[in-house]
Amino acid sequence: PAGRNYLIGGNWKCNQTTESALELVSVLNAAGPIPTNCEVVVGIPYPYLALVASKLRSDIQIASQDCAHSAKMGAFTGEVNVNQLKDVGCTWVILGHSERRSGFGGDSGESSNLIAGKCVTAVAAGLKVMLCVGETLEERESGDTIKVVKSQLDPAIKALQPADWENVAIAYEPVWAIGTGKTATPEMAQETHAEIRAYVASALGRDVASKIRIQYGGSMKAANAKALLAQPDIDGGLIGGASLKPEFADVWRGML
Ligand code: PEP
Repeated sequence: PAGRNYLIGGNWKCNQTTESALELVSVLNAAGPIPTNCEVVVGIPYPYLALVASKLRSDIQIASQDCAHSAKMGAFTGEVNVNQLKDVGCTWVILGHSERRSGFGGDSGESSNLIAGKCVTAVAAGLKVMLCVGETLEERESGDTIKVVKSQLDPAIKALQPADWENVAIAYEPVWAIGTGKTATPEMAQETHAEIRAYVASALGRDVASKIRIQYGGSMKAANAKALLAQPDIDGGLIGGASLKPEFADVWRGML
């Protein structure tokens, strides 16, 4: 909306095998044209990045789901750096997903400061970032939604240069809506998106705010995407569960 292209992101999380990844790639490759006002990106688990990058149609971009804080090669066991990600075909990285913030995967949770540092590293390497923010149910019920989101954005606002935001999208993902089947209503999501855009305008200026894409994430699927994407401040989606199915393509088909 308002001159911004939609950014439709998929997030495979810790799912897929070689076989199932290739199956989904064939479905997406055969899924017909992507509207010119949509950019499509899929977030792939590390082991399948190179494979998917080599087989997936070139008008769908590849994201990793995290990156190392440091861009350097070296003694960082278990880490994958931005240069390695670029080397295997990534152009985007999802950072600060609530499952990484919470330590849900078994690691210790990531702080907003660490995530801001990763944003700087990624953008400096020429990767684009989907920076995830969002409140828990408890925080929403206490009326703290925008306060929480601001506190998650602030370290990145401090760490990045204003021009860097051309390469950053914000994914607003209320934690209570992720993987739960509960979606924020289009009106609820729009309200928070508008507040986020207003905050970006106050912190980084109206120009950055008018250009930045704010994606909605939380049980988005083909059936509810159109109504969410019709809201003036919802500029795309970050889609988990439904991105593992052929219906992912129905999200952009719905925008044709
Ligand atoms: C996500 O992975 O970012 C997400 C929003 O998941 P789901 O669509 O499954 O709720």
